[in-house]
Amino acid sequence: MPVMLIESNISRAVIRNDSKDGKVRLTKGCKKVLSVLETVDDLSSAQDIHSKMRSTEDKPPGLTTVYRSLESLVNMGLVQAVDLGDGERRYEMIKPGEHHHHLVCDSCKNSVHLDQCLIEELEGGIKARYGFEVRGHILEIFGICKDCHN
Ligand SMILES: [Zn+2]
Ligand SMILES: [Zn+2]
Ligand SMILES: [Zn+2]
Repeated sequence: MPVMLIESNISRAVIRNDSKDGKVRLTKGCKKVLSVLETVDDLSSAQDIHSKMRSTEDKPPGLTTVYRSLESLVNMGLVQAVDLGDGERRYEMIKPGEHHHHLVCDSCKNSVHLDQCLIEELEGGIKARYGFEVRGHILEIFGICKDCHN
């Protein structure tokens, strides 16, 4: 299945360090979001995360808190947001500061996590050729997966 396995210790490590060194400040909402995300391999929408919380927690945070927490986790580089072009952003845990791309099946909507960035090496060329300093990129590849092919 996923090519890149999400390291499940990351959020635990971050959560543990939280109060000690005072560097990483995670709100309660952020911790809850991370603990949901570390149990799933698939991309999850804020709604998915929220409904998981509602089924497992007595006092789940509101959807707005989930959105806000996701936003700050993305800013901290612990979670990446993925745009599949359907208007709803999906989220997943990543190794801090890293990113990756996906092969998304149009038919079953499953996605394969790619283990390497396909464009990072092009970025130097872009700067040389266009004098353009690249700050980021968005790339998801759509098609039909092996299972849906058969
Ligand atoms: Zn498929
Ligand atoms: Zn992924
Ligand atoms: Zn990339």
